Amino acid sequence: MHTVCREACCPNQFACYGQGTATFMILGRHCTRNCRFCAVAHGPEGPPDPAEPERVAEAVARLGLRYAVVTSVTRDDLPDGGAGLFAETIRAIRRHNPGTLVEVLIPDLQGDSRSLATIVEAEPDVLNHNLETVPSLYPQVRPEAGYRRSLGIFSRVRALAPAMATKSGLMLGLGEERTELLQVWDDLRAAGCALLTMGQYLQPSRQHLPVARYLPPEEFTELAELARQKGFAGVASGPFVRSSFQAEELYRLFRPAGPATTD
Ligand code: SF4
Repeated sequence: MHTVCREACCPNQFACYGQGTATFMILGRHCTRNCRFCAVAHGPEGPPDPAEPERVAEAVARLGLRYAVVTSVTRDDLPDGGAGLFAETIRAIRRHNPGTLVEVLIPDLQGDSRSLATIVEAEPDVLNHNLETVPSLYPQVRPEAGYRRSLGIFSRVRALAPAMATKSGLMLGLGEERTELLQVWDDLRAAGCALLTMGQYLQPSRQHLPVARYLPPEEFTELAELARQKGFAGVASGPFVRSSFQAEELYRLFRPAGPATTD
């Protein structure tokens, strides 16, 4: 069982575990891409394991998780980018844990609409896709990705499932300009994205991109307020904030908990 918590050396592991949240990584440990900020291993990976959805669902039950996040490396080698296994994992978690909320943090599926629909039809509570940074830095930070392609995921989810909560995440401190950051927020809001996370980029090793700037905590607080004014229902912003940090709290800002039976 892989968790991105471990694979990406997340600083929040114990805080999240304490809140009954964990992020499972499906589809193997090796990514087909090589983003310059990412600590995940790169290289060829074996075929998807059809037993993995059940294993994840059983782990959610054993851990008694209230909120489960499922993510994956990017599998550009698979025709559907792994969308089928994502959908199966959502359904398996639902079968074994009817009261558990499910968030999926998905790759861009190379912009394939059919693959995205496969995941949306499995009805996760939250569909998350990280833009990671501002468009002008994509060539240095995530050269195999496309800003417009990633943004397109939100507008397509809105067309397929208008009530679904969507979420994105940004790393700060890579050299982004404030004006471009504000534009990214506008683009996300225009595409229907409701939830946002912003955290400090930390260099995983000397082989990775250097940190351009460490933002002081008060700047994250200021940015959070500015982003809320743009209309995001929930914003988590702080030096150690990562995609799934305080995930359930953020979701509840978008969809407050109703009486338990209606969820
Ligand atoms: S696609 Fe995701 S897992 Fe792969 S290198 Fe980039 S950030 Fe890391």
